[in-house]
Amino acid sequence: MKNLKVENTARAGSYDILIGPGLLDAAGERLGAFIPQNDKTVVVSDENVYPLYGERVMRSLAGAGADVCAVLIPPGEGSKTLKQLGVLYDMFAEIGLKRGGLVLALGGGVVGDIAGLAAATYMRGVPLAQLPTTVLAQVDSSVGGKTAVDTPAGKNMVGVFARPVMVLADTDALSTLPPREYASGMAEVIKYGAIASADLFAKLESSPGMVDEDIIAECCAIKAAIVAEDEFDTGRRQLLNFGHTFGHAIETTYHFEKYTHGEAVAMGMVIAAGAGEFLGLTEAGTSERILRLTGACGLPAPEGNLPGLAQYVAHDKKSTADAVTLILLEHIGKAAVRRTTFAELEKILFQISEG
Ligand code: ADP
Ligand code: ZN
Repeated sequence: MKNLKVENTARAGSYDILIGPGLLDAAGERLGAFIPQNDKTVVVSDENVYPLYGERVMRSLAGAGADVCAVLIPPGEGSKTLKQLGVLYDMFAEIGLKRGGLVLALGGGVVGDIAGLAAATYMRGVPLAQLPTTVLAQVDSSVGGKTAVDTPAGKNMVGVFARPVMVLADTDALSTLPPREYASGMAEVIKYGAIASADLFAKLESSPGMVDEDIIAECCAIKAAIVAEDEFDTGRRQLLNFGHTFGHAIETTYHFEKYTHGEAVAMGMVIAAGAGEFLGLTEAGTSERILRLTGACGLPAPEGNLPGLAQYVAHDKKSTADAVTLILLEHIGKAAVRRTTFAELEKILFQISEG
């Protein structure tokens, strides 16, 4: 088992991210002193994950003296709504959860995001532990303390930064993930290699499509290090957006239906590397290398109208009126930030789509 400590300079304190097999059965023991003895513990999960792992977690928590209840939400991004958030508050009240209680988020990024927001805001904040069960959630959403729901205006429009008391990433849980979900999480794993570790990227190339405890831990360590320097997302944290500016544009183009987040990010990384090569900033052949690795993991190659993506990039939360921030690579293992104009971006996308 790996144990990472997330520290940060902005706020006092730290928390542990434990990564390894069997952690769901050991949740009670691992959470130890975080389990309230005179207040409720509430496990929030979804209707796919709970039947697979819920009982085991509940048993372990009860064994550690927790007075535990479960609340289930329907699976999928469609549950990340203000309405569902309201349902969680009502359930918490019905159960009798108080500020001295504990909320556990057992599931993928969707459960982590909404349960995290519910915990952070219910009675002005109840402690939260994350038990991520997807590749994406283990390497990405459970580290960094972002929580959110979607509104009609867009994804993740309402949320807060809320650090968990602990993250337990059970690598055994990944064995039941549908292949498409697994591959989608791989896109974020590849991203960590691309922006921060040539060794990790090479390791993925030598056995594509599979993650293990070491790989998950390395991704979490990379994210934790970046987040520690920039907890509130104003500087270095933007490197984590590699592939995401174009990825979000692709997701938006297809109304979040055709591609998963990870699939869109995979395409976005290939496009961003191509853009960097076009600008002479990125080592030649980088885009091709990313394309080969994402393809070997079952992720799609960029397709469709690339210049058409420019208008969506311009509307990204992270863009301003005349400038777009692109996260590019110098080479595999090193990211760089480049500001560009809308006109230049259109030109770049046109050029790379011409091959
Ligand atoms: P993500 O972590 O990709 O943001 P979700 O929370 O939407 O995504 O999870 C993706 C899908 O996989 C959901 O339908 C969820 O119920 C399901 N799921 C999550 N974890 C597991 C698991 N360990 N085994 C099987 N299905 C899972
Ligand atoms: Zn992402």
